[in-house]
Amino acid sequence: MVHNTIKATTEAEAKSLVLAAFNILNTYFHDHCCFTIQEQLNLHGSGERAAKALLNEFIYPTSQILDELGGLVTSVFPVTETISSSNATTGPYAEYGLIIQSPISTYGLCPHHFLPILYKVTYAYLTGSGSRVIGLSKLSRIAELLVKRPVVQEQYTKDLVTVLQDRVIAGIIQLGIDPSKAVRVEGVMAVTSGEHMCVKCRGVRSDSDTTVDFFSGAFVGNTALQQRIWDVHARSGFYASK
Ligand SMILES: [Zn+2]
Repeated sequence: MVHNTIKATTEAEAKSLVLAAFNILNTYFHDHCCFTIQEQLNLHGSGERAAKALLNEFIYPTSQILDELGGLVTSVFPVTETISSSNATTGPYAEYGLIIQSPISTYGLCPHHFLPILYKVTYAYLTGSGSRVIGLSKLSRIAELLVKRPVVQEQYTKDLVTVLQDRVIAGIIQLGIDPSKAVRVEGVMAVTSGEHMCVKCRGVRSDSDTTVDFFSGAFVGNTALQQRIWDVHARSGFYASK
């Protein structure tokens, strides 16, 4: 019997279907894949545990990701601080500040095999003169949130850049903070290196990792600036320096 036509209309229904599917899988393991009774006993409750792990750790509903991203924006203001404000017109560091968070460890599921991908992320943005900054933990939180869906590494890397630039920064401005005191981003760059279990454990069974970059604004066409991010990313151990 084929079940691929079963659809849920609500998130709650979808979660109960996931639980049912894992319980079916667990029954199959129990009945056909165990050598001993002891092995069967080890499967007790595994359907529930596996469904919980998937839903709590790997896949969030889109609405939850957007809600939590919005929550990040509202909590940014109290921890923002001005940088370069005292020397914005006279100091040697007046124009820009490069802020890099690395390595950020995240993990997701590939959309083709539902197997884990382990990431090391280097996440950077360039501020304009007198800009405030967002808390560094926010960069990690954005990277953790955006990976909680079945997404390919290339799209994840692109979204790290566009979401910080277009959603988070724009959100701060929309909330009414004085634009002269807001975070002004001149460009964003993300580099991700991923260990894909679907590449390592099946198919080609290659031990290689995949590294992807994406950038916007001032990073475009500025290879020296890009190289600074690559140099930091190389320290994550995934990528040998160019
Ligand atoms: Zn895959």
